Amino acid sequence: MSPRLVPPLVLIVLVVSAGDSRAQTTAASPDGILSLLNRAEQSLLVSNTDAFTALFSPAAPAEPREAFVRDLLIPEVKRAVVRERDRVPLEGSLPGDGYRLIVDFFTESHERARIVTARLDVRKPHGASGEHDWRIVVAERLTVVEGLNRLSVNADTQFAARNLAIQAEDLQLVMHEGSVFVVDSADGVTGLVLIGRGEMHFTPGPEAERGQVRIFAGSETLTARFETAFVRMNPAEYESRVSTANLSKVAVEPRRLRRAREIFAQEAPKSFSLDLSDLSREPWYLLPGFGDFLAEVRTKKHGTLTYARSTSEAEDVTLFDRARHRNIALYASAQKLSARGRSYDEDELSDYDILDYQIDAAISPEREFIEGRARMRIRVRAYALAALTIRLADPLVVTGLGSVEHGRLLHLRVKNQNSILVNLPTTMPRDSEINLLIVYSGRLVSQGIDREALQGPPQRTEEVPFVAPERNYLLSNRAFWHPQGQVTDYATATLRITVPDGYGCVASGDPAAGSPVQLKDATAQGGKRLYVFSASDPLRYLSLIVSRFVRVTQTTVPLLEGAAQGPLPPAVNVDGALAPGFRIRDRIGLSVDANPRQQGRGREMAPWAADILRFYAGLIGEAPYSTMSLALVEHDLPGGHSPGYFAVLNNPLPSTPFLWRNDPAVFSGFPEFFLAHELAHQWWGQAVGWKNYHEQWISEGFAQYFAALYAQKAHGDEPFVEMLRQFRRWALAESDEGPIYLGYRLGHIRGEQKVFRALLYNKGAAVLHMLRRLLGDELFFNALRRFYYENKFRKAGTDDLQRAFEAEAGRPLARFFERWIYGAALPHLRYATTIGDREVTVRFEQLGTLVFDIPVTVTVLYADGRSADVVVPVTEQKVVQKIPVDGPVRSVQVNRDSAAIARFDQS
Ligand SMILES: [Zn+2]
Repeated sequence: MSPRLVPPLVLIVLVVSAGDSRAQTTAASPDGILSLLNRAEQSLLVSNTDAFTALFSPAAPAEPREAFVRDLLIPEVKRAVVRERDRVPLEGSLPGDGYRLIVDFFTESHERARIVTARLDVRKPHGASGEHDWRIVVAERLTVVEGLNRLSVNADTQFAARNLAIQAEDLQLVMHEGSVFVVDSADGVTGLVLIGRGEMHFTPGPEAERGQVRIFAGSETLTARFETAFVRMNPAEYESRVSTANLSKVAVEPRRLRRAREIFAQEAPKSFSLDLSDLSREPWYLLPGFGDFLAEVRTKKHGTLTYARSTSEAEDVTLFDRARHRNIALYASAQKLSARGRSYDEDELSDYDILDYQIDAAISPEREFIEGRARMRIRVRAYALAALTIRLADPLVVTGLGSVEHGRLLHLRVKNQNSILVNLPTTMPRDSEINLLIVYSGRLVSQGIDREALQGPPQRTEEVPFVAPERNYLLSNRAFWHPQGQVTDYATATLRITVPDGYGCVASGDPAAGSPVQLKDATAQGGKRLYVFSASDPLRYLSLIVSRFVRVTQTTVPLLEGAAQGPLPPAVNVDGALAPGFRIRDRIGLSVDANPRQQGRGREMAPWAADILRFYAGLIGEAPYSTMSLALVEHDLPGGHSPGYFAVLNNPLPSTPFLWRNDPAVFSGFPEFFLAHELAHQWWGQAVGWKNYHEQWISEGFAQYFAALYAQKAHGDEPFVEMLRQFRRWALAESDEGPIYLGYRLGHIRGEQKVFRALLYNKGAAVLHMLRRLLGDELFFNALRRFYYENKFRKAGTDDLQRAFEAEAGRPLARFFERWIYGAALPHLRYATTIGDREVTVRFEQLGTLVFDIPVTVTVLYADGRSADVVVPVTEQKVVQKIPVDGPVRSVQVNRDSAAIARFDQS
């Protein structure tokens, strides 16, 4: 899922979006159909049932026809508009004699309007020639938008307000003194405009959200004075939300009314409003559903703050800073939490499951242009599916859309949503399948690597002549470069990518034998190369990168040789037997492609990559994907991106104008760090995905921990402890910014991406290490493998992780995850040591109200220079541990390895 950065109510997905009026007007008899629709429009306008019924073929069954007409014709129509949206030839009719249409019927009466979108099958009777001969044979209502209201400020009534209070979940608006105008609908008051001396109070229920409010406003309750506000609500809730007793009618002051109208005109169209373009030029409004609420509050201190309660969203309470475009709070209401619990899966939003993609794409990297043909095999998840929404970048124009089973399909572009609504010819039952075919093309800009790139101030490091980095064209998870579902969805894929001569392509999947193939271009613009990739293991999303590449190496890496050695318990037992349920992918294809100047670097990296892959496969028992391709490209800052089957690594040129040494993800003395982190994403992030943005630490924290484990394996304990030290430093420095569970929102309010990396990457890794030290190596790695295999090619959450670890540990771990993942507070420990002849006594006390589970390394330093480490599990408020010693002790150290994320005081 891409994090939601705009409040939910601002845009309402328009099933009827009139945006795509490029209705397919095929050659045959457009005038006849147009005339039919004109007559339909006239009949609607005069509410003439007989005239509308006469548009039907006499052969059309009476009952559904009458129901359709009854639904469509409403009394006292002031305006009616009928627009054809799409047209395909009707099956079983002679060419030009029958069509299936999608038609919008817009009717307006006084302050209300509605839109019915219907499928009409129309035919010209055999032998007929006149334009009046077209008749409707079948009419079926597909969607309806009811209750469109024309809203305005009530100009006849002005209220004086004194201590007026307006309530919504965790929000209170108080107008101490001022004027109030109401916005009426036929159902009652749906809006208010407040002008005067007001105050807003917002205190989120969840602690983590109060923490975000503190970052934004300096206190856990946001209190802000305002002079104007605009609110919307369901009319049925007017009396319960608004203290109407504090309103008294006064004479209307023209200046105040004018001001109220200005506020309404500016604020109202931002929410619950529809742009109907060619159906109506006026703004039309929906009434908020029961429980929904919106407030646009113009505060003095923070500019306009938008509060929304939107019951249909997984997280239904938001506070949004309009000017800076930031979510301040975003969470599930108490009601929602009690109904479904904390964890939720974004896949539940999806009506269908994508099983397989076949994509042919011709890429022109210089023009950033793509021409694609995609086939998507889809299985229905909903109980019944009549239409489905697919995502595709707005700039890409769809020139053909159909299915293998049904031929061309009716479809509509939904405006500014990167999506397309596809109408299915029949309602499909659950578990049935369809193969969609989509032809599309357009210009699409390359996506950046964003979060996985380091940040640094632009600053010339030394006087090196500037060299422009080689360009590359990356299309991945945020580009919507091919038709896809509304959320990421594991699917297998075959990609056939054509690039101009001189370019290479790395993409999701196994490169096919013989790929690339040189193609001769008939248009004599130079040759082309066809790359074929097949992904027989499911991928979370599909990606490709095109640049000038040189193949540096291609090899096969045996994965499980020597897996039984090393400091960590391997998946393979010493006698070679497999732990139950383990499948062995015992070799992996490895290839390295690099920009020409990066070939040397590529040759250096190939053996590292092989070693890292072998190491990870040894920990987990296999590699999830059959090949790994590395693409080494040039960029101003280091960074990486790791879709399934490949990884892109940014390599800065010596002339890069940036410095990035003070980034949470820089570890000196470990040159393979980025590579190790990116390769770990094949297991964590790709093979095991994350359920929603809260769970991204399962990708980043795990990848970071695996990279640290590899550092230890490759370079020994010293760089490992150095990493732990850095993890701890960043965790201590940034934990106040919120719990790991906030995902991308960490640092979001302040626009500081370092916070995200400090906590998701580094604290996340440190938390895993603490869990390991509490449980012991064998149990920890068994649980990790259990978690991996239970969630392979699925999206997982912290709750799944907790379950897997509890199953192995045989004891509850709720408090561990509660403190370290869902909570932001850090433990503060006071300790005292007593050195005796035979033993050392260490006393720990957890200060503060919360008790953490925290393993602490206690190091006994002997007078003769020896040292011994003991891990003390501090899992009570007070813990006393006696450590036997076998010689004179010089001193005792606590947390020498920095593995405990805590503050320590010696008493
Ligand atoms: Zn990462």
